[in-house]
Amino acid sequence: MGISTNPTERLSRPQPHFINGERVASGGLRDVLDPATGKPISQLHLGGQSEVDAAVAAARAALPAWAAVAPDERARLILRFAELMEANAENITELSILDGGLPRMIAQGSAPFASLFLRYYAGWTNKITGKTMPSSAMGKSPNDLLAYTLREPIGVVGAITPWNYPYGMEMLKIAPVLAAGCTLVLKPAEDAPIAGLLMAEIAQEAGFPDGVFNVVNGLGEEAGAALTAHDDVDKIAFTGSTEVGRIIVKAAAGNLKKVSLELGGKSPVFVFPDADLASAVPGVAMAGFLLSGQNCVCGSRLFVHEKIADDLAAGIAEFAGSMQIGPGSDPANMIGPLITERQCERVEGMIARAEKEGARRVSGGNRVDRDGWFIEPTLFTDCEPDMQIVREEVFGPVISMQTFSDDEDFESLAARGNDTTYGLSGSVWTRDLETAMRMTRLIDAGQVGVNCHAAMDPTMPFGGNKQSGWGREFGEAALDLYTKTKAVTLSWS
Ligand code: NAP
Ligand code: MG
Repeated sequence: MGISTNPTERLSRPQPHFINGERVASGGLRDVLDPATGKPISQLHLGGQSEVDAAVAAARAALPAWAAVAPDERARLILRFAELMEANAENITELSILDGGLPRMIAQGSAPFASLFLRYYAGWTNKITGKTMPSSAMGKSPNDLLAYTLREPIGVVGAITPWNYPYGMEMLKIAPVLAAGCTLVLKPAEDAPIAGLLMAEIAQEAGFPDGVFNVVNGLGEEAGAALTAHDDVDKIAFTGSTEVGRIIVKAAAGNLKKVSLELGGKSPVFVFPDADLASAVPGVAMAGFLLSGQNCVCGSRLFVHEKIADDLAAGIAEFAGSMQIGPGSDPANMIGPLITERQCERVEGMIARAEKEGARRVSGGNRVDRDGWFIEPTLFTDCEPDMQIVREEVFGPVISMQTFSDDEDFESLAARGNDTTYGLSGSVWTRDLETAMRMTRLIDAGQVGVNCHAAMDPTMPFGGNKQSGWGREFGEAALDLYTKTKAVTLSWS
């Protein structure tokens, strides 16, 4: 193999950009920190306008030939990419732990998750179809006319991604972009930048032509902003905060490039008195604490029936107390670090304010006294709808709990859940069919689980309502983001 995925070797040199099939080491340097220790593990070149210009030019130049590659050949390359991700799975696990601070259990999913997406979209390359239409244009009969649609690649795609699950967040853009015949410039998050370059190099190893998959590392305000505003980019696919999503929409207005957004969330979790508590307790706890709450679908707003509220709170507190905290290098650790000192301080501040506003802390809430940025999984009961901890995305391991009673009907309960600017995910825990069916209809979110929270699968569309985003990724839906429809009318008489 031409490239090495060995962590020691990869991290020993500053991480460059990847433009037109080559490593480009330009721009200033910044330390890449291990969130479990706070210590540097590598360095990162910070690109800006000139790197973005070069990467976009390479993607533009590669586009016509890549779009014309036979779908079966595109599928073959994507499947080869998947195989190489799997072949490098062990190194990818180690790199996910060091770079993103992932617990080992989740880090081990990085390569399989990425290859699952690649395989799924490889299957789509020869199923991106148009339609024939019974057109009556110009008063003609179907015998004199053929009217049909073509689905064409949207063009050069700029992808901007967050740090919380880098291989996954990046791959859920990379795979459908490649399958649709588009070319890509990826701007990974500066706080977890190792994955992007690695995957671009693995793609090259798999045989993708130069310029099809480019990476520019750098700060959002510089490299990200340059990509978003670039007049030769046809589409921006963004995952990140709602705040930056708004900046992206404005920056994209220059050439009116297409934009899709996967943004923040404050997702409600409803537990009904008939729920199976033995599975609801770990399910609801993990909905809030997975990845230390650093995920957009985090079930951070818990609504529980008053009859079982004490039992559920005690169960979650016990579960939280049993979760071992520490670096992902130790497989026994289930709670990893927050990504930066800044995030850690932000979460500590929100916990302190929740207590000040009268929420009752029944578990966790403390910063762990060790290197790195660890916070104990935290449960607040006695929460009120106007508290900050109920309203704002924490991006930390914090669940806020409120109760409901038999006096409330499904509509008013769902309205309490929907009382947020977000609409990404939600879940209902019950064994009653009517409760499940009514609540799934009433929850205003792009995704709802019954007796599970945020089930992710490449077949299922994923995205948010309200200020959680624009468009849907995953599944067939993602292909709509990366193709444009052309209507053709062919008359022969
Ligand atoms: P973020 O601050 O919005 O950053 C996301 C990406 O945007 C990073 O690559 C960032 O670059 C870049 N960026 C920042 N400012 C920019 C600008 N002015 N122009 C262009 N790009 C810019 O989000 P984050 O803190 O990394 O991630 C947490 C957020 O992402 C949460 O709100 C979470 O809910 C959301 N999220 C959503 C989903 C979803 O699917 N809906 C999934 C995961 C996370 P740098 O960081 O490198 O500076
Ligand atoms: Mg940033």
